[in-house]
Amino acid sequence: MTTIEEALQRASFRLKKAGLAQARIEAEILLAGLMKTDRLQIILNRKWKLSPEMNTLYQDAVEKRCALEPTAYILGEKYFYGYRFSINKSVLIPRPETEMLIERALHWSTLQKQKDLTKIRCIDIGTGSGALAVTLALKIAGIEVWAVDISSDALELARQNAAEHRVLDKVKLVQGSYLSALRCFKPRPLFNLVVSNPPYLSHQDLDILPRGIKDYEPLEALNGGADGLDGYRAILKELSGFVQKPALVLLEIGAGQKDAVEEMCLQTGLFSTITFNQDLAGHPRVLEGEIA
Ligand code: GLN
Repeated sequence: MTTIEEALQRASFRLKKAGLAQARIEAEILLAGLMKTDRLQIILNRKWKLSPEMNTLYQDAVEKRCALEPTAYILGEKYFYGYRFSINKSVLIPRPETEMLIERALHWSTLQKQKDLTKIRCIDIGTGSGALAVTLALKIAGIEVWAVDISSDALELARQNAAEHRVLDKVKLVQGSYLSALRCFKPRPLFNLVVSNPPYLSHQDLDILPRGIKDYEPLEALNGGADGLDGYRAILKELSGFVQKPALVLLEIGAGQKDAVEEMCLQTGLFSTITFNQDLAGHPRVLEGEIA
């Protein structure tokens, strides 16, 4: 039988040959994920034997990674804001920069609570795995979250994640395109918190996307039309009919989109303030618009 160390060495060699820079770490992460443990345990228990079944599973996983399949799809999971989310190829893999929307939403909701707004109604437009919707449901007491997505497969996964985190009673799943998904609801639901990470890549961005993303992540979660801004147009066109003061709108944006999206927000005449939050690379990443 193969030991963990032998399996790791073989895997690192394969991953390195496939051009992956952090081969040893990737090898450890993959094995830890399959064994439902963490890297530290793998490193500490290097002399342990792997069962033949686990060894086969591991080799399959390593081959997938060599073909540049993202680790989150191979393992079927990704952590977001410290919570585990089930992931599959029908949804975009949650990115760490999107956690900033949660930070800003929590900051705002704390301020609102001090002003006696305790029942926040939130909408997550294009929920995908439900990472934003479920995390907000977990973190904000008394919140009601509507999670909208055009993809029924994505919504099914979001439902599973809401169930795994025991917040199904706080999350309402609705299928449809952006805010037009809500047209059938009478009376119209009104929201105080609007969050979205819409598809925002332009056709030019899509052309130069790394293979690991282009070949595996769903195009409909990335493609924002010719200039990448179609998602913001769709949201902002209907937003005024779905918000209730005081409200906060948090939109993730892509590189170089700050001025265009700010201008689109100004055109709506809805916002009392518009600010931008920078990501760790120093790029404006999250638009924060207040409706007071
Ligand atoms: N951040 C993603 C990427 O650059 C794009 C996400 C999106 O379009 N919302 O791959």
